[in-house]
Amino acid sequence: MVTGTSGAGKGTLEKLLLQRMPELELAVSATTRDQRPGEENGREYWFVSPEIFERRVEDDEFLEYIDLPWGARSGTLRSEIDRIQTHGKVPLLDLETDGALRVQETIPGAVTIFVDAPTFEELERRLRERATESSGEIQVRLDLARRQQEQKDRFNYRIVNDDVERAADELTSIVRRELQTAGTMSRP
Ligand code: 5GP
Repeated sequence: MVTGTSGAGKGTLEKLLLQRMPELELAVSATTRDQRPGEENGREYWFVSPEIFERRVEDDEFLEYIDLPWGARSGTLRSEIDRIQTHGKVPLLDLETDGALRVQETIPGAVTIFVDAPTFEELERRLRERATESSGEIQVRLDLARRQQEQKDRFNYRIVNDDVERAADELTSIVRRELQTAGTMSRP
């Protein structure tokens, strides 16, 4: 599970990790937020209306979900985890920190990796540079990021995304090592 603040570069690192480790597959979350340029329905997210999201909540289709402070709702569908495991692959989840903590407590063997920007100023710069949200929403994302950073010691690993290639190497070696250990432990 990859977690961290909005704008820390989780998405970019996950793409690199998935290219390097074909045994992983991204659990595509459902979200009510607007699609950003370059995003594809079913690749980064399943983009759904608030009505469809609410129906899925009522039908208990989510392993977990979050109501984000800027109004969007995002959640991990149980069906995504089942689909990935049926293929014999390992699910990779991208969750904000509360969701990651909930899944860490409920799924035995889940590994959590917190991706951090090198400094708060850098995080702010990246969010403003991305410019896909309004300035009000960027401020709400920054306020949430400050609270999320206080939780970083609760996760199994922390990676500082100072250089994308270096951080992707670190992420890959952590995931490889964890999968090897899990494989060894499950052997009779
Ligand atoms: P963004 O809107 O920038 O794609 O995502 C905002 C935040 O929502 C990120 O921190 C991301 O990790 C988190 N997020 C995305 N999908 C899910 C999900 O299914 N569950 C939870 N708990 N958080 C999610």
